[in-house]
Amino acid sequence: MKKFSAAEAEEFFARLKKLDPEPKTELNYVNPYTLVVAVALSAQATDKGVNKATEALFKKVKTPEAMLALGEAGLIEHIKTIGLYRGKAKNVITAATILVEKHGGQVPKDRAALEELPGVGRKTANVVLNVAFGEPTIAVDTHIFRVSNRTGLAPGKDVLAVEFALEKIVPAHYKSRAHHWLILHGRYTCIARKPLCPTCVVRDLCRFKEKTREFPDEKPKTLKKSSGAKTARR
Ligand code: SF4
Repeated sequence: MKKFSAAEAEEFFARLKKLDPEPKTELNYVNPYTLVVAVALSAQATDKGVNKATEALFKKVKTPEAMLALGEAGLIEHIKTIGLYRGKAKNVITAATILVEKHGGQVPKDRAALEELPGVGRKTANVVLNVAFGEPTIAVDTHIFRVSNRTGLAPGKDVLAVEFALEKIVPAHYKSRAHHWLILHGRYTCIARKPLCPTCVVRDLCRFKEKTREFPDEKPKTLKKSSGAKTARR
């Protein structure tokens, strides 16, 4: 597979940016602490499902101290519609204890300290550093892993290899938002089962050999506004 050149990577992100200049996470949160909680709850769950559960929770709980006051049983009442909620509740409460005892109730802007929190791995730490603190980290989730490999933008056999490959190929000025653009592209256009290649704005740059040809029934929900008829069959 021919590697992406710097010019192609620039063009790739310029097109995604045109579709959605200010991409944002689809998880609801009100401050860095609630973002940590939301991301931890989102493992193997949909953002929509997490948002539904946290709507009432984040009205009540915005700090680790408030989370400890709510307690594990109280938290479970809010999140029991989310998969693996018992383990997640335990992790969120333990993480709140660590944040209060070691970090004065604040979310640390530090990868190692974030990764010490139960339920927070490299991916979650990257999301928090990127979304809450504006650092140019790229958290590789299932969508980004697929898009990076399929397109040939940043191939890698595991998420860490893809993360490092993205760090090299994503132009510096797109880095702080690359995470969102790639997730949205994977979630709504370059979907797992049948990618919407005919309406994809990066079709001519993409190296995927099995691009879908026929116009799909399902219209891309975009990078929200993604590709309409004008951009079709690029
Ligand atoms: S052309 Fe198809 S496979 Fe390539 S990025 Fe677009 S949707 Fe994905």
